Amino acid sequence: MIYLDHAATTPLDERVLLKMLPYLKNEFGNPSSQHSCGRIAANAVTEARDKIACIVGVNPDEIYFTSGGTEGDNWALKGVYSAMGGGHIVLSAIEHPALLSCADELKKQGASVTTVNADKSGVISCEDIERAIRPDTVFVGVMSANNETGVIQPIEKIAEICSKKGIFFFSDCVQSAGVLPFYTNGVGGICFSSHKFYGPKGVGALYIKRGTPIAKLIAGGRQERGLRGGTINVAGVVGMAEALKIATDEMQKNNQKIRALRDEFIEEVLSQIAKAELNGDINCRLPGNANIYFKGFSGERILTLLDINGIAVSTGSACAAGAVTPSHVLKGMGYSDERAHSSVRFTFGRDNDREQVQKVIAALKEIVK
Ligand code: PLP
Repeated sequence: MIYLDHAATTPLDERVLLKMLPYLKNEFGNPSSQHSCGRIAANAVTEARDKIACIVGVNPDEIYFTSGGTEGDNWALKGVYSAMGGGHIVLSAIEHPALLSCADELKKQGASVTTVNADKSGVISCEDIERAIRPDTVFVGVMSANNETGVIQPIEKIAEICSKKGIFFFSDCVQSAGVLPFYTNGVGGICFSSHKFYGPKGVGALYIKRGTPIAKLIAGGRQERGLRGGTINVAGVVGMAEALKIATDEMQKNNQKIRALRDEFIEEVLSQIAKAELNGDINCRLPGNANIYFKGFSGERILTLLDINGIAVSTGSACAAGAVTPSHVLKGMGYSDERAHSSVRFTFGRDNDREQVQKVIAALKEIVK
């Protein structure tokens, strides 16, 4: 199998698994227990939190462990909105459904939500965000990089705008964690998810700046400073910390390799397949992402035919109630339903090589023929 769907998930790094194993076997204690078995687990959790905080560049007591990106997005939005006593929300239209559908729920409870579209290159304009902000705005959410196009957003500038106005700014860093350095200056909250950087699934982290009002997510015990009850996934957080450390240490080397493969792929596809076009800015995007429009072809059909050839890719379309709805990201960039239905996302990772790139190009040429 040639796996080109690293934006969906990544395989577990063997080195991460080795770090996790003791906590799945002998060191099985509950970190809330007061005996030595519990203390061993609690120390491992503390170490993981310290390691993650150090990499993100924040304080350990600003890191909350979660079950992943969806929970981080939900907690940040619902938690801040509720603690602020309601108000106006500004989100980019290309956010992950974890944030957009959470906002839809809040809308039903009376929240006022403004969504800001991207331009044709997939970038959210800082001026549009600034224009959308109102005196009663309590939350601005713009992701650091988009999951479908990989396009990197101007979060430094947006953070500065929000910071000047004293508004909480949240950035979903699920796609950029381990690929780009974290940026937290003027950012009130970020979230990320371990399975996107070769860590285990079902574990993530939410950074919330000290002093930010945020409501609890799960009522229960005193875990996560009383804001999220439930026994901590010890092996999970140990694995996430190790995966993030490895991804950070090897960032430059991996990005260089992955970018070279991705660039070779884009260049050859665009020159050898008639009418193929790249969606999103060529330069300002994550190194592993190529999102390509195959005019006149169904993205779903290309995905299926590639799958038959042992190649795993993805489309941004969502299948709901038997109907395929076009990607809200490409629509949010001003593209037609037709373009959104005819686009395929290829996301490269550490273990891909040039031979695989050539095999995928050959398969694509056959399919469009
Ligand atoms: N946010 C973004 C940008 C994502 O790409 C994803 C997953 O694809 C999520 C949130 C949800 O993360 P998780 O799968 O950990 O719930």
